[in-house]
Amino acid sequence: MTIDATTALDAAGDRPDAAAVTRAGNALAGEGYVAGIDLGGTKVLAAIFAPDGSIVSRAKVVTGRTGGLDVVDRMAAAVREATAVAGLDLSQVVAVGTGVPAPVDPVTGVVHMTPNIAGWEGMPLKQELGGRLGNIAVAIDNDVRVAVIAEHGAGAGVGARNMVGIWPGTGVGGGLILDGRIYTGSASYAGEIGHVTIKEGGARCGCGGRGHLEAYCSRTAIVRHLARLVRRGERTRLTRIVGRDVTRAKSSDLAAAAALGDTAVIAVLDRAARYLAIGIASMANLLNPEIVVLGGGVIEALGDPFIRKVTRLVRKEPFSATTQPLKIVASAMGDDAGITGAAIIARQMQAGLHP
Ligand SMILES: [Zn+2]
Repeated sequence: MTIDATTALDAAGDRPDAAAVTRAGNALAGEGYVAGIDLGGTKVLAAIFAPDGSIVSRAKVVTGRTGGLDVVDRMAAAVREATAVAGLDLSQVVAVGTGVPAPVDPVTGVVHMTPNIAGWEGMPLKQELGGRLGNIAVAIDNDVRVAVIAEHGAGAGVGARNMVGIWPGTGVGGGLILDGRIYTGSASYAGEIGHVTIKEGGARCGCGGRGHLEAYCSRTAIVRHLARLVRRGERTRLTRIVGRDVTRAKSSDLAAAAALGDTAVIAVLDRAARYLAIGIASMANLLNPEIVVLGGGVIEALGDPFIRKVTRLVRKEPFSATTQPLKIVASAMGDDAGITGAAIIARQMQAGLHP
């Protein structure tokens, strides 16, 4: 995982900025120990990263259903436990980073809204979590953006100067790395690729809009479309796997049915691939990245055959200057993406590169 310094500086061209220098050594390395937290709807994972960037301990705590400050207590408990497991004193942990499954403001550290955690609307997380850990410095960001940062700092996109991350799962999240750094936009909402319109008057999106990428490529959209086909009398093996209500199908069920040659599932996944390719080609033409990293539940389940299909479709787009050289790859961090990206934003905060 340690990156050759020469490679990263070459990738950064003639502008070896601070981000590139951090990357050149190791995005996870820095002074003192840092903690990375992966906050999910069911569990809180925490890990302690040593000055050399290696993980020295991990802890897991259930998120619980109480919501509110109780969840912040549990996040702090996970960090304390991981610290104790590492044989460290809390004073040796100099910064904490965390991803949040919601839109957040990384500057103020306030959570805007949380569909997955009760009572967190307007939660001043930076302040509340820091206060519970001896006023430690806390970096926070949206969880998909944190995963994109993990892929860029330590996964599939290491060394890339410009990278687009697209995460099809329950919704479609995304993130942009421009000039070696995460791009947040004017109010920290940049990178919402799922809500880019790819078809006028198209399918209804979770946000209320129509024809957005998410309305074709999220697992939710894929299974809803399948349910419509079933109502029209199409047959699918999914009914044998999950019962009559095919909207209950998980991404792994879709992958299993497709592998068995299920024509309905294959047709809907092909449609998702076409729209994803349109979205990727649009991003390529707008931003000219060298790499697109695809992550999230749908991609993890469907794997390389799906990515190859998407890549072939992207290559067919007529504006080939941006689409031909584009690398399209699967995320590489797996289950450690959350804690790793969180630790990277903590390191970036130390270096003055994250709010
Ligand atoms: Zn939308």
